[in-house]
Amino acid sequence: MLRWLRDAFSGAMLPPVSEKTLFQKIMDREEPGDILYEDNLCVALRDINPQAPTHVLIVPRNPIPSLDTLTEEDETLVGHLFLVAQKVAAEEGLTDGYRTVFNNGPAAQQTVAHVHLHLLGGRQMSWPPG
Ligand code: 5GP
Repeated sequence: MLRWLRDAFSGAMLPPVSEKTLFQKIMDREEPGDILYEDNLCVALRDINPQAPTHVLIVPRNPIPSLDTLTEEDETLVGHLFLVAQKVAAEEGLTDGYRTVFNNGPAAQQTVAHVHLHLLGGRQMSWPPG
């Protein structure tokens, strides 16, 4: 009986505690981050390991895990992420051009399961990307 009670209340019957993503912790100022822009839908922050002179991540406040898990309800949000990328690119002086990327899934080397748009610029890009 005691064993049953212990197992029943060990957490298995409770809803999982939702863990914040890394980007949510940065947005909530629980982790350090260089935030350039924020509004009610998203935050733009500098990448900690920049792959170009400007490397900014535009991250929705809603912790949608990936491009694959976006739905039609997110259509306006996705457009907004691109308009914020455009605004940040202008503020960063990327007049020669820039690249935007969503990595989706392991083959594309997505490492943070909170969808984000990469904005890269300030150097000549090559194609195809690695
Ligand atoms: P992904 O590989 O998922 O497309 O992109 C995740 C990005 O998050 C990577 O470019 C990586 O450098 C960046 N990143 C990982 N940890 C941190 C962090 O703690 N702070 C910031 N600002 N960026 C991070």
